[in-house]
Amino acid sequence: MVKIIKSSAELIGEYEPEADLIKIERMARNCYNSPMSDNAQARGEFISKLVKAGHESVLEHVSVSFMLTVPRSISHQIVRHRIGVAYSQQSQRYIDLSKEPLKVIAPVPELNASELVLWRESVEFAALTYNKLIAAGVRPEQARVVLPNCTVTKLGMTANLRAWRHILKERYLNKRADPAIREVMSQVAAKLKKMYSSVFGDI
Ligand SMILES: Cc1cc2nc3c(=O)[nH]c(=O)nc-3n(C[C@H](O)[C@H](O)[C@H](O)COP(=O)(O)OP(=O)(O)OC[C@H]3O[C@@H](n4cnc5c(N)ncnc54)[C@H](O)[C@@H]3O)c2cc1C
Repeated sequence: MVKIIKSSAELIGEYEPEADLIKIERMARNCYNSPMSDNAQARGEFISKLVKAGHESVLEHVSVSFMLTVPRSISHQIVRHRIGVAYSQQSQRYIDLSKEPLKVIAPVPELNASELVLWRESVEFAALTYNKLIAAGVRPEQARVVLPNCTVTKLGMTANLRAWRHILKERYLNKRADPAIREVMSQVAAKLKKMYSSVFGDI
């Protein structure tokens, strides 16, 4: 009746990080009328210096998209970020979730064995109730109110690099952030650091 999966962050689109960094440098050099770097290392050092100095608006010229697979409780927190971000979220109004086992994500940090049994019983019951309502002719937009917060949602998210820095500081580096959001943002951070080390070196 339910299927337990892990949260994930899938990179969406094709990227050429070096070309993106050249664009960022070009925009920043425009501010100072200074010549472009003649190699990638010098460019990286220049961009790291900009970031350290807080000259972060130049990072808004590049955006990166992810498809996040997260519990609804976490997507609700993510969409609080308003600036420099675009979202496309899977609808619970138009999609009938009774056609396959309900996908859920277990609480983070992990529950102990007896807690896990309690959680599982509760989500199984919710999924069963949802399926019964749909079978009785209730529309998905009404039946969805019985679904638990751990129900999986797919959230397409595009943010510019400045916005990603802000989000990662609040939702990944911040030890007070929800452990479940930190888990998915750690995956975003790892990918962005690999692509744009000069921008995310301090994250
Ligand atoms: C640990 C933690 C606990 C939280 N607990 C709660 C909670 O209990 N309840 C709750 O409702 N929210 C809670 N939040 C959400 C938090 O208050 C923010 O809404 C959320 O993190 C989005 O951050 P942001 O405002 O920086 O948004 P973004 O949209 O990412 O904004 C980026 C930046 O732009 C600027 N900005 C954006 N909009 C404005 C504006 N209107 N006016 C002036 N400057 C603006 C700010 O500098 C802001 O930091 C929590 C967040 C964290 C990290």
